[in-house]
Amino acid sequence: MSNINPDAARLAAALQYAHDHQDQALEELKSLVRIPSISNDKSCKPEMERAAHWLIEQLQQLGFHKVQMFQTAGAPIVYAELLTAGPNKPTALIYGHYDVQPAEPLELWESLPFEPEVRGELLFGRGASDMKGQIVAVLAALNALAQTGDLPVNLKFLLEGEEEVGSPNLDAFIISHAELLSSDFVLNPDSGMVSQDHPTITYGLRGIAYFEIRVTGPDHDLHSGIFGGIVHNPAQVLCELIAGMHDAAGRVTLPGFYDQVRPLEDSERAELRRLPINEVYYRSQTGCSEFFGEEGYTLIERATARPTLEVNGLLSGFTGEGSKTVLPARAMAKISARLVPDQDPYEVQRQLSQYLHEHAPSTVRWEMTLHSAGYPSITDLDHFAIKAMQQALEDTWGSRPLVKREGGSIPVVASMQKHLGLESVLAGFSLPEDGAHAPNERLHLPTFERGVQALVRFFTYL
Ligand SMILES: [Zn+2]
Repeated sequence: MSNINPDAARLAAALQYAHDHQDQALEELKSLVRIPSISNDKSCKPEMERAAHWLIEQLQQLGFHKVQMFQTAGAPIVYAELLTAGPNKPTALIYGHYDVQPAEPLELWESLPFEPEVRGELLFGRGASDMKGQIVAVLAALNALAQTGDLPVNLKFLLEGEEEVGSPNLDAFIISHAELLSSDFVLNPDSGMVSQDHPTITYGLRGIAYFEIRVTGPDHDLHSGIFGGIVHNPAQVLCELIAGMHDAAGRVTLPGFYDQVRPLEDSERAELRRLPINEVYYRSQTGCSEFFGEEGYTLIERATARPTLEVNGLLSGFTGEGSKTVLPARAMAKISARLVPDQDPYEVQRQLSQYLHEHAPSTVRWEMTLHSAGYPSITDLDHFAIKAMQQALEDTWGSRPLVKREGGSIPVVASMQKHLGLESVLAGFSLPEDGAHAPNERLHLPTFERGVQALVRFFTYL
């Protein structure tokens, strides 16, 4: 942004303020990390309240006029809004979670997990990176803007305390508070960078449909010497059914599986090729020397932007030491499909059922259950908030940010899309080596500082 105008001067002032108050942001982060808000530990219930109150206090100091704590069956949800920018400006809904993973195994920590300690350029402590550091970065950026002028956008916060235990009460809250949460997009900084030199925006997440298939043959386990050759073995049947779920080109054969899959645009494929994630990377991560998958797609496309079907577990017959000549009565498989836009997990359930109806022999009985279902999500790369984030990251790091899809799922993103019609900008400043969920979790402070600068720009460019 080289043209000199009042906006540029205003931005420069906010960036300067953020820079000058970096120590203050770090002290605030330390005080939040000191609260052991471990969501899966029932004895931490008062700590969850403390962390929620800490956030409420910060938001009040920032001038948020409506700051509320909503009790749920689990940890409280903090909501806040500041709509002073006016109806002509967009409203950003900022999502975050203030809970953390347990710190065990404690003996592997070099400093106490809830006594934050700076060593060199790193701040050590549980939650420093995932994601208290990300929340404090947003608060620091907003504070810098608020201290140097009017806030350029309308803001809402939704901060939950149960992300690390699967957000059991969040969906119901979102559905019952749709009007309160209405906004133009979601900023979700619970997402990381590919490396400290590569600011990254995640714009797509896969959904999931998780199944169990049970095949039953005889009414009890049989002697394979007496009945083998006349009784159709359920283990064999299940293996044949599973083998038929992919064709020779690595494509999933469930009827209609690809019908709703949105094709990858050429521009998108070009962006994915820029990622430093290639065959060498996947070799180092897996120990595999050769790879499998759908023909016509690169590894990163197969792993993040194409749907898959995987066997997660198989169980049948005798699996102990030595030998036992049994013809098992039943066989079971756990199977999950990762889904991309615009697939629907319940539609995939129907497709798997149809496949089994068409292919299972009449010599056995079968049943299938759906264990869990989650929708895929994607944010349009032309969305104005994505554009603003791209520009903010580029102006901060001096290089065009990477955009990537994630092979896994972040349910809150799909939930925001489904229930509120909101797209999410997933851009945070954690690094792969931060050790989220592991002992010695750390935050890279220079990246944290850059993150604050990038967020100041982002809110301004909106
Ligand atoms: Zn997180």
